[in-house]
Amino acid sequence: MRSSSAGTDAPSSLELRLPSPLEVIRDERLTAHRVQLLLKRDDLIHPDVPGNKWRKLQRNLAEARRGGHTTLLTFGGAYSNHIRATAAAGRHFGFDTIGVIRGEEHSPLNHSLRAAVDNGMRLTYMDRNTYRRKRDADVIEELRHAFGGFYLVPEGGSNALAVRGCEEIPAEIDVPFDVICCPVGTGGTLAGIAAGLREGQRALGVAALKGAGFLTDEVRDLQNATYGRMVGDWSIDLDHHFGGYAKRRPPLDEFIEDFDRRHGLQLDWVYVAKMMAGIYGHVERGDIAARSTVVAVITG
Ligand SMILES: *Cc1c(COP(=O)(O)O)cnc(C)c1O
Repeated sequence: MRSSSAGTDAPSSLELRLPSPLEVIRDERLTAHRVQLLLKRDDLIHPDVPGNKWRKLQRNLAEARRGGHTTLLTFGGAYSNHIRATAAAGRHFGFDTIGVIRGEEHSPLNHSLRAAVDNGMRLTYMDRNTYRRKRDADVIEELRHAFGGFYLVPEGGSNALAVRGCEEIPAEIDVPFDVICCPVGTGGTLAGIAAGLREGQRALGVAALKGAGFLTDEVRDLQNATYGRMVGDWSIDLDHHFGGYAKRRPPLDEFIEDFDRRHGLQLDWVYVAKMMAGIYGHVERGDIAARSTVVAVITG
């Protein structure tokens, strides 16, 4: 993708590592069950726009450009990876960016929002009640009134174009596999991955949120919006959230440390470590069958 002169004085390209690397993990806890684990390293796609955030933004940026937009507006919590990634991608591709942040302003800015502002993002804050209604026409109208025209990227970047981007993940994997796993926040990544599966393969999402039964509806709605129907064999594990979104507990920290010691990889604790702990749990219990080949998507 090339940048035009629209928006800010941005550099016009992003060095992306695509397809992302595939790595084999050797771990006696898995080989005991004859399970092979491969890591799909989407975290290495780009340092500022990692993993599934790039996959979800790519087609949205192209669509915004096609529509002649110069500004992107999106939503997120104060620690949202999506907010940061949108700011970075916007700068690279010459869009102005506006981040609508849930809740009130805190100063100084946390690391995540600081990075967004450093990439030129303009932040605005929305009280939690209004934020809950952020998809409603009157709320969006209000934002248009305040900020002028913009291309709206939904929270977490998850829309039909994002789902199409994530559909490319399985297609990039050139070895046979049985199960592909990813963390679930809004469900866009899982919706797309499931749609890219071949016969006999299944997708397992691990929810990073507590009490996230509604995510099944979200993934179904995203697939309906994208493909007009539900696609692929997918399910969501609701039992490895370790206390809830952005919550960590000693067992999770121990898992992360142990994984790093064994494999030299520090797992992201908000999403990726919970998915990985889920995979080990499922293998242990036999929910992932012996002799399976499992791909874990390292989303960030
Ligand atoms: C945003 C994010 C997710 C969540 O992806 P969804 O498509 O919203 O389910 C997962 N992993 C990482 C590292 C993320 O930053």
